[in-house]
Amino acid sequence: MAILPIRHYPDDVLRKQVPLEKEIDQRLIDLAGDMAETMYAAPGVGLAAPQVGESRRLIVLDCNPKDSPRLITAVNPEIILRDGECYEEEGCLSVPGYYSQVTRSSRIKVRFLDLKGKEVTLDCAGLLAVCFQHEIDHLDGVLFIDHLSSLKKSMFRRKYKKLQAQQEERM
Ligand SMILES: [Zn+2]
Repeated sequence: MAILPIRHYPDDVLRKQVPLEKEIDQRLIDLAGDMAETMYAAPGVGLAAPQVGESRRLIVLDCNPKDSPRLITAVNPEIILRDGECYEEEGCLSVPGYYSQVTRSSRIKVRFLDLKGKEVTLDCAGLLAVCFQHEIDHLDGVLFIDHLSSLKKSMFRRKYKKLQAQQEERM
């Protein structure tokens, strides 16, 4: 396994619509392992394949406390039911240094394939529900900043430019 470099906004790969996976090949299985290692190292609670430059319909998540990890690896994940609304602060490993509240469904049912090709359905609430919605968005080329109001978007662009300039200075 390996820790992969994470792509940052405005990298084009983050904007691609990722097609459905037709089969779970060894490359996808290896990628899932590397993505999990990359997510834990970051550290983060979720990672989608486009964030490491791969247009594969694959996400990894772990929203459990550190002392009881529960890794979820999901191929072709889709939301099949939504209920309620929540407004929680989100960040993204591909948009480093920026956090904002985003409106999401508070409870969802998701369906996906595990790495053995078995269909799994999961009822999610709280952080896990938010995380699934955030990561599935990545597979459709959508970032959490796209959900912000136009005022907040323009504030984001100004702040992010400053953050990037600071990062370049440090390098
Ligand atoms: Zn993200």
